[in-house]
Amino acid sequence: MDLGIKGKRALVCASSKGLGRGCAEALAAEGVNLVMNARSDGPLQETAQAIRDAYGVEVTAVAADITSEEGRGKVLEAAGQVDILVTNAGGPPPGLWKDWDREDFIKALDANMLTPIALMKAMLPGMMEQGWGRVVNITSQSVKGPIAVLGLSNSARAGLTGYVAGTARQVAEKGVAINNLLPGIHATDRAISLDTGVSKAQSITMDEARKQREATIPARRYGTIEEFGAACAFLCSQYSGFIIGQNILLDGGATNVTI
Ligand code: NAP
Repeated sequence: MDLGIKGKRALVCASSKGLGRGCAEALAAEGVNLVMNARSDGPLQETAQAIRDAYGVEVTAVAADITSEEGRGKVLEAAGQVDILVTNAGGPPPGLWKDWDREDFIKALDANMLTPIALMKAMLPGMMEQGWGRVVNITSQSVKGPIAVLGLSNSARAGLTGYVAGTARQVAEKGVAINNLLPGIHATDRAISLDTGVSKAQSITMDEARKQREATIPARRYGTIEEFGAACAFLCSQYSGFIIGQNILLDGGATNVTI
């Protein structure tokens, strides 16, 4: 299926690895030129070159912390106006409800709520003016069903979700579609770090930790970045303009909800 976005430009944040990379690759496969970002320059340049070589698209790579005002400024300056925005950043650290102080919440809100909001505020006016735009925010399954040890994520991402619900409905008439993708567990470095925590805490092997987690997922496996990227590319396509302000779970059925 041709998604009809060949020649468009996308900014994909936090995309040298993991889910962001999956989104960048799927868009590049559709002929979308990219601005990619991550904090470490080496892996970012490597991924950018691999994508240029594989798909023949233009890739600008900007090493910066997307959650800092300075880093965001650098990325936005290099990107200029884009047609497609994929927001992403690292997730907050785990802990329990009594562990966090104001500063911890401010950090989580900055990274996982205020950063995507700032990026949308920068890109939406141009998208509305040109009468076409797509925004996909990578959030988490924690928005639909709280994850006990990820209270900072539960909180910050819920705030972003509320902002998107209201904003998406105000910009849709200008041809701009904003939606959120809610990953459950995917086979990325984040999954390895979560499994490492379980393996240490329960004195079991990494393989046992993974099997234990897989048993809780109806699909009995972790998601792949290719599957995630394909869903993102569809939400950025010519066919997604009637999907507005939605929260789409990609979790193998792990979140036990009806809607
Ligand atoms: P990952 O494999 O650890 O990849 C993270 C990517 O983001 C890397 O390219 C990293 O590069 C970049 N990055 C991290 N912080 C950044 C920052 N402040 N500024 C710019 N780039 C940054 O993570 P992932 O699994 O793809 O997860 C992506 C997001 O989805 C996270 O917010 C995570 O919490 C959420 N999520 C993931 C899962 C899962 O199972 N994977 C499930 C639910 C939610 P640098 O380190 O070089 O910056």
